Amino acid sequence: MSKIAVVTGGVRGIGRGISIGLKQAGYTVIATYQSNDAFAKELHTDFGIDILKFDVSDFNSCEMAINTIKNRYGSVQVLVNNAGITKDAALHKMSTDQWQAVIRTNLDSVFNMSRLVIEDMRAASFGRIINISSVNAQKGQAGQTNYCASKAGVLGFTKALALETSGKGITVNAIAPGYIDTDMVRAIPEAILDKIISLIPMQRLGTVDEIAKMVQYLASDEAAYITGSTISLNGGQYMS
Ligand code: NDP
Repeated sequence: MSKIAVVTGGVRGIGRGISIGLKQAGYTVIATYQSNDAFAKELHTDFGIDILKFDVSDFNSCEMAINTIKNRYGSVQVLVNNAGITKDAALHKMSTDQWQAVIRTNLDSVFNMSRLVIEDMRAASFGRIINISSVNAQKGQAGQTNYCASKAGVLGFTKALALETSGKGITVNAIAPGYIDTDMVRAIPEAILDKIISLIPMQRLGTVDEIAKMVQYLASDEAAYITGSTISLNGGQYMS
């Protein structure tokens, strides 16, 4: 029987690539999203990937969603915490709303979703949790105290949960992407994007497929000895 994989924010951008990659690798994939019905429908129609709409920053919504998934498909074996947002501003101009929205969406969500699947993973002696962090968690980025704090929090969470679950068939890892060729990155004005690319040692953006392939590997049985790791996938932009 195919394994059950949940990808948060799995209907567009990096998450869409992860969802499609896992589906093609034989998983039963549930791609979640918040509001973008058009992208969700397209993914369902074109790739037969099931979709579920809820707010990952809200624990009760996550609980209802996980219960729905368990009733429809069974316990979650692979969780990819990918949903994330930015609300950039220099700290002296940042509002509490900008701070809280990013922390709740990028970090609380990782607690919410992981908390709701971890007991079943422990009972099954199997699980894979893969958290999508960011190179900016490692190196910092002006204008992103909220985002960098949330994504660095994800790295600490990853290591602590990896320690709690080691020896129980569960692995918990993070991927820290650099600039990936997504609509969001392509929306950066061309001159600025050219400057950014010129500062990346590999002189190019990463691809969604490169992230998706790493997720597939971390989800696989072959990756059973990797836990608590942060995989840097950034073209050499930051070496930790
Ligand atoms: P996108 O903005 O393209 O997609 C984000 C996804 O998250 C969407 O599907 C969105 O849902 C979902 N989402 C956002 N907020 C919520 C919420 N509250 N509840 C449920 N779903 C939510 O992001 P990217 O593909 O660019 O990024 C994916 C991840 O990778 C993020 O965590 C990001 O921080 C990280 N990352 C991205 C990089 C890049 O270069 N793009 C670089 C480094 C890290 P909906 O479609 O309904 O809006």
